[in-house]
Amino acid sequence: MIHPIIVPTKYSLRSFNFYLVQEENELTLIDAGINIDECWEYFNRTLNENGLSVHDITRIILTHNHEDHTGLVNRITSIKNVPIYAHEESIIRLKRDKDYFSLRIDFFDQLYREMGCGEEGREHVGKLRKAMNSKERFKIQGDIHPIVEGDIVSGLQVIETPGHSPDHVVLLQPETQNLFGGDHLVGHISSNAIVEPDRQGNRILTINEYLQSLQKCLELDINTVYSGHGRIIKNPKELIHHRIERIHQKSEQILSLIKEGMTTASEIARSFYKDKYRTEFSLVMSEIIGHIDYLELCNKIKKEKKEGVWHYSEL
Ligand SMILES: [Zn+2]
Repeated sequence: MIHPIIVPTKYSLRSFNFYLVQEENELTLIDAGINIDECWEYFNRTLNENGLSVHDITRIILTHNHEDHTGLVNRITSIKNVPIYAHEESIIRLKRDKDYFSLRIDFFDQLYREMGCGEEGREHVGKLRKAMNSKERFKIQGDIHPIVEGDIVSGLQVIETPGHSPDHVVLLQPETQNLFGGDHLVGHISSNAIVEPDRQGNRILTINEYLQSLQKCLELDINTVYSGHGRIIKNPKELIHHRIERIHQKSEQILSLIKEGMTTASEIARSFYKDKYRTEFSLVMSEIIGHIDYLELCNKIKKEKKEGVWHYSEL
């Protein structure tokens, strides 16, 4: 039996969703919301309403490392030390590995310079540096068991779906065709494929990965997607097709801007996203860079470095 915990938010995500899966002697928590008291209250209320308590939880599985999916983990494990399962790529992020996070800051510093972001880029890297220490509190304290493609945890099949994040997994319950989808598929908004470095500091081709992961889900038998935000999605195939189509459309729009003579990623981002370039800088750059990488991969554009900045043009 699935007990959804839906915590509303005024932001565009609409809600933070996570799920209790109750079986005879097991109670699995899939994702763990955001670390605010309201979320903790919703979580406990759902447990109480079903005659359960935190002590009944037997494991936590995380779909990915983002803070709005891991928020209550430390509160829970401080009460009951249950095993935590997450993708092997999640662990350095969940444990806030210092080497990885400083590599990540260097990665963004170089990336924003090479993409011609100027002052906004420097400002954002400054914020990342400051956040490095304050985000220590997000570190997951308990033991994390790595999971990978094909593993089965408590009857749930692990399917790797990188794109939104490099460590993203979805969990399929084959007999019910229920899928716990994290942020891979959200009903009311398209998920961002967020640009990240891999462990070596190389840029991951996120849009390409995300497209492949969407395609992968089209081949699964799924009835219902229990999403990380917004509504629960019935018959998701149509929505997946729509998301794939929308990504291709966006790539074409960005290609048109390059054909019109815009050459740097920051120039394209300013033109495409207007004010959001300043207000949502990292998401906006992530989206543009992801699409530019994808266009390059598809041999539609080429690039040339001038004075340390990449300039793109039609191929
Ligand atoms: Zn996320």
